[in-house]
Amino acid sequence: MAEFIYYIVCISLFGLVFGSFLNCMAMRIVRKEDFVKGRSHCMECGHELSAADLIPVFSYVFSRGKCRYCGKKISIRYPLAELTFMLLSIILFLHTGTDWITFFKEWILTGCLFAIALTDLESYEIPDMLLIVSLISWICFSVLEFILGISSIKFIIQSILTGLLFGAAILIISLVMDKLLKKDSLGGGDIKLFALLGVYLGFAKTYELIILSCILGLIFAFLRKKIDKSASQEFPLGPAIAASAYILLIVGDAVTAWYLTLL
Ligand SMILES: [Zn+2]
Repeated sequence: MAEFIYYIVCISLFGLVFGSFLNCMAMRIVRKEDFVKGRSHCMECGHELSAADLIPVFSYVFSRGKCRYCGKKISIRYPLAELTFMLLSIILFLHTGTDWITFFKEWILTGCLFAIALTDLESYEIPDMLLIVSLISWICFSVLEFILGISSIKFIIQSILTGLLFGAAILIISLVMDKLLKKDSLGGGDIKLFALLGVYLGFAKTYELIILSCILGLIFAFLRKKIDKSASQEFPLGPAIAASAYILLIVGDAVTAWYLTLL
């Protein structure tokens, strides 16, 4: 039990720090800033932030949500993003337990999905860079799992084929939809994201992913219309796909088992 609490505390802290990093990275990608070299600064006055200003959540609480230098309000987005990612990390750990390879593989994917959702929400674009990082991470973990005898060549090839198959199928569907609706239905980033997740999730869960993404996409679109009547016609599907993929990482196997009992 003590060990379990220790892990939860560590994962909460790592979740906060990684969440803070991902949120800043997403904001810098949208604003086309260099996120490797550039120092963190206040979005209002541009003052460089010191280490004390960069502690996730705590800095926000202690400064009462205001910049220490110019006194302007700091967006609630920072602590919200940090706490959200902390929660996602804890739930993932409760699912994988101390199977650390699976945990880190899915944690990195969750991080990329989180950054993808944030950038797509703000800029209606899914950066290739985040998709490439996810793919490289998958390749590294697959090699590691193969070396440790957890995974087989057959499984790895199946995963790649699933990604290619779903990517191609969704590309064809979106091209047909474009012709029928006479407007762009799915962004290129959405199609690449589906292909990537096909590689990660395998056949059954990718099938579930498409259904769940459509349902969540409709719910998000409906809620956005309710909250913001002036919202643009363009609607980002990335957050719905990312949220669906995360949900399926956690409950996908249970959903598949349930679905098979219906057949
Ligand atoms: Zn400031």
